[in-house]
Amino acid sequence: MKPNFVQKVTNWGNFPVVEKEMKSDDSFTKIKDFILTRNEVIARGNGRCYGDASLGENIFSTKKLNKFISFDRLNGIIECESGVLLSEVLEISVPQGYFLYVTPGTKFVSVGGAIASDVHGKNHHAEGCFSEYVLEFKLMIENGEIITCSRDENSEKFWATIGGMGLTGIILSAKFKLKNIESAYIRQESIKAENLDEIFKLFDESESWTYNVAWIDCLQTGKNIGKSILMRGEHAFQHELPQNFKEKPLRLKKKFEPTVPFYFPGFVLNKLTVKIFNLLYYKKQTKKEVKNIVDYETFFYPLDVVRDWNKIYGKSGFIQYQMVIPKEKGKEGMKKILETIARSGNGSFLAVLKLFGKNNPEAYNSFPIEGYTLALDFRVNSKLKALVAQLDQIVQEFGGRIYLTKDSMSKSSLTNYLKNIQNSKFVSLQHKRIVNNNQNS
Ligand SMILES: Cc1cc2nc3c(=O)[nH]c(=O)nc-3n(C[C@H](O)[C@H](O)[C@H](O)COP(=O)(O)OP(=O)(O)OC[C@H]3O[C@@H](n4cnc5c(N)ncnc54)[C@H](O)[C@@H]3O)c2cc1C
Repeated sequence: MKPNFVQKVTNWGNFPVVEKEMKSDDSFTKIKDFILTRNEVIARGNGRCYGDASLGENIFSTKKLNKFISFDRLNGIIECESGVLLSEVLEISVPQGYFLYVTPGTKFVSVGGAIASDVHGKNHHAEGCFSEYVLEFKLMIENGEIITCSRDENSEKFWATIGGMGLTGIILSAKFKLKNIESAYIRQESIKAENLDEIFKLFDESESWTYNVAWIDCLQTGKNIGKSILMRGEHAFQHELPQNFKEKPLRLKKKFEPTVPFYFPGFVLNKLTVKIFNLLYYKKQTKKEVKNIVDYETFFYPLDVVRDWNKIYGKSGFIQYQMVIPKEKGKEGMKKILETIARSGNGSFLAVLKLFGKNNPEAYNSFPIEGYTLALDFRVNSKLKALVAQLDQIVQEFGGRIYLTKDSMSKSSLTNYLKNIQNSKFVSLQHKRIVNNNQNS
């Protein structure tokens, strides 16, 4: 008979799927008991990492740690339990004139997950990672003790946990700062770039903008490599809004949210469909440059509009491969990566390019280093491991890194930026895979 709570668990990429124990509780005594009675434990937030980072032999889900603790409206400081989602923070903070300083491309991640991966947004070059705005958090460590971690208190644990991928303990709650906004809207400019030279030039010219991101058609070859659309944005002031938004500048109308009801058959996504999608996406914008005001959901979370969009990759699932290449070699490195992908025929539906600014040396486990980062989705198939190995090699050659929260396949010595992670009972399947691979190579 299976022990209680053993169930199929998988994260956003639906790869890998494992059958493991997963339990959730909001009683600290019961969480302590869970930790003390298991040899290995890993925390899981909302499973929005793509691969095996929040999978383990015994998974503690923070879903029931979902309460707000306090909201200082004067200073924009919020404290909540770690399973609270960023979407829930926005629901209460935006109407009060506050936004997250740093948000990833989906709002459905937990506060604990945002700290453990030290997530970045479209503004890393200007405002850094999520951790910059974290004041303190409570961490349950190996012996079940709860410690408060901040820059001044237990600071070693504070910095090891930031970007530490759950390997230092379970974050129970956190206190962090929010930024003032005048409206729930973004002043956006979208500019088409014909190739890599042009998009890199546009990134250079846009560094003074708070938010920058480019969508790349990565099936292009030759002189068209790097064909893309750059989107840059700023939080809109009230006086910049059109009249119909001015009445309730901090409230958005509820939108229809379509759902993907079932897994698409594997053949639906192939080189041809990806090519057609990319062509239509690029042609949708007919002018070279478009300026408009869009709501924050459209600007930050375009993918969240379709619930369960991950099912379009079929039951075999997909991976996201995200790497960063140091700035001075950015263009050269990206060219080589895009050429390798185009040659492989493994079309990526979604390829997103962003600029990282200088990293915070104290947050030594965070992924970003100053440079360009590219994130690509690939359907899992028999050729994918070989492509990932090729990409890993290029990233290594250019002195780059891969993002652990997206990884599920890399064989990597590229991940040795994880420091101060002692052998403890907080272990993920990802960590075991990487340690085993490195020992065998
Ligand atoms: C559509 C999409 C877009 C994304 N865009 C971005 C982006 O732009 N930038 C970016 O940085 N990331 C991005 N991500 C990745 C996502 O932000 C991270 O994977 C995030 O950590 C997921 O949080 P989660 O709550 O789902 O945690 P999970 O996916 O469940 O876990 C992620 C990691 O955090 C650890 N963890 C979770 N909760 C706790 C806790 N309470 N205590 C200790 N450790 C914990 C887990 O052990 C694991 O290592 C994106 C993901 C998706 C699906």
